[in-house]
Amino acid sequence: MGGPLPRISDVRPVLLRAPISTPVRIAVGQLQARQAVLVAIDTDAGLTGIGESWVNYPAWGPVERLATVAQGLRPLLIGEVVDDPVRLWRRCGDALHRLALQWGAIGPIYQAISGADLALWDLAGQIAGVPIWRLLAAPRQDSVPAYASGLGPDGVAQQAATAVAAGFGAVKLKVGFGRDTDERNLAAARAAIGAGMLLADANQGWTPETAAAMRPALTAARAAWVEEPFPVDDEPAWLEARPALGLPLAGGENLYGRRQFERWFDQGLLDVVQPDVCKCGGLTAARDILGLAASRGLRLAPHFFGSAVGLAATIHLFAALPPEQRMLVEYDINPNPLRGELLTEPLWNGAGTLRVPQGPGLGVVLREAVLAEYGVH
Ligand SMILES: [Mg+2]
Repeated sequence: MGGPLPRISDVRPVLLRAPISTPVRIAVGQLQARQAVLVAIDTDAGLTGIGESWVNYPAWGPVERLATVAQGLRPLLIGEVVDDPVRLWRRCGDALHRLALQWGAIGPIYQAISGADLALWDLAGQIAGVPIWRLLAAPRQDSVPAYASGLGPDGVAQQAATAVAAGFGAVKLKVGFGRDTDERNLAAARAAIGAGMLLADANQGWTPETAAAMRPALTAARAAWVEEPFPVDDEPAWLEARPALGLPLAGGENLYGRRQFERWFDQGLLDVVQPDVCKCGGLTAARDILGLAASRGLRLAPHFFGSAVGLAATIHLFAALPPEQRMLVEYDINPNPLRGELLTEPLWNGAGTLRVPQGPGLGVVLREAVLAEYGVH
């Protein structure tokens, strides 16, 4: 596309809320509905980029996010030339990082910037006429491998069997619901998946004592990693847990910014690094963080548990990771129309894999009928 680069004419948060019949439970709370805040960035050239900002918890999270996008980010971006997502990231980060510290809202601010950053990468790809994975210098791929996420705490045997039938070679079980439940679910998941890979996610729900008590069951179930065993502000517990658990530790979905990840890498707290493109600062931050992790030989498995927009961005990022260190993309198997129905062409590819979009930018087209059905005004 020749001529002058477009300028940003509007930044619009779009709230979607889809009812679900069975709440999704994790160790720190539950989702009564599936919600997503998309960030649409319009330009004077008629192009619109789309991104997603993580709002799973708390249930009222979208109220804050709509305001932060509209009042915090919009004034920083309106009128800016869409030249480089990294420059625009810095513009937002420079203006809001210290404010976030003062507010005590690093998470919400980075999650909001994430949504805008994904939309800016989408625009950059559209302007260049190439998919984001090409902008990230990835080789062409048609699909990427995924693991089935979001199993438990109820109906684990059935969920695991369904995942195996769908072609997943790896499943992730939520733990942190009490020792009896966790032990029973680990055994049920292992029995259902045979030789497949089993991952366990405590969502910060354990103490070092709980983790030590769980070690035999985790070992018997051959858990390939234990994710977020402890609160992420209890770094000493993580440090002590490594020898006590004797299993690889995974985490990163609740860390923000390069500095925080670097501190965790320096302390050797993680074996598997899991930034979330809708939380950590978007593709710009995730690429930086995963590059740092890769240079230290750590394994890489981006976190994701939202709508199809963020999932598409996660797939582009994953496609650009070093093949020898990348593991799997997280794929939530709980019912969520905002993931399964939002796109004209689904990302689920069958056989435990996800489709790598080949169109410009994110390479996805949103279905107007789904936006209309679940849009909240
Ligand atoms: Mg997790």
